[in-house]
Amino acid sequence: MNKRNLKFVLLLIAAWCTMTLVHESGHVLCGWSCGGTLQSADFLPWHLPYSIFEPDPHPLMTLWGGPVLGVLIPLAVAWFFRSKELWFIAFFCVLANGMYLAMAWISGDRYLDTPKLLEHGAFPVTIGIYCLVTIGFGYVGFRQQCVRLLSPPPSPPVSNSLPLSVENHEIHSDHT
Ligand SMILES: [Zn+2]
Repeated sequence: MNKRNLKFVLLLIAAWCTMTLVHESGHVLCGWSCGGTLQSADFLPWHLPYSIFEPDPHPLMTLWGGPVLGVLIPLAVAWFFRSKELWFIAFFCVLANGMYLAMAWISGDRYLDTPKLLEHGAFPVTIGIYCLVTIGFGYVGFRQQCVRLLSPPPSPPVSNSLPLSVENHEIHSDHT
């Protein structure tokens, strides 16, 4: 595996860990700020992270906290530091959060965010707009970042002047 591909794989792993961590932290931050009491939480990225608030006075805020902050925080960090690696991670988070809400909606699993949002009174149209915007914007941005990371570096500009070795080479026309 060449260096560029290895960097791409490592960035994908970093993006996945960032996505799960920031998404779940978004639920926890919103749950706490709305007066909820966190009973248990799991942030490990290799299984589906979760957080349980009981009581949770504003469950809709807690539930929206994950997908909303999970998108806004990585975008803000990438915008602030203006690094292409951070933009890659940020657009991955945007796309993944949109895909997650859309797939959770289709699956209907009541432990996932979308069925819980609907159960607590979120408008389906709001969730639909969230999915459309994040999947559309995330797909375009993430694709662009993939192309940027995987395309070979630009070759150095071709110089018009002759190389030094040729310029300094004296043509001998000594016929004596
Ligand atoms: Zn969530």
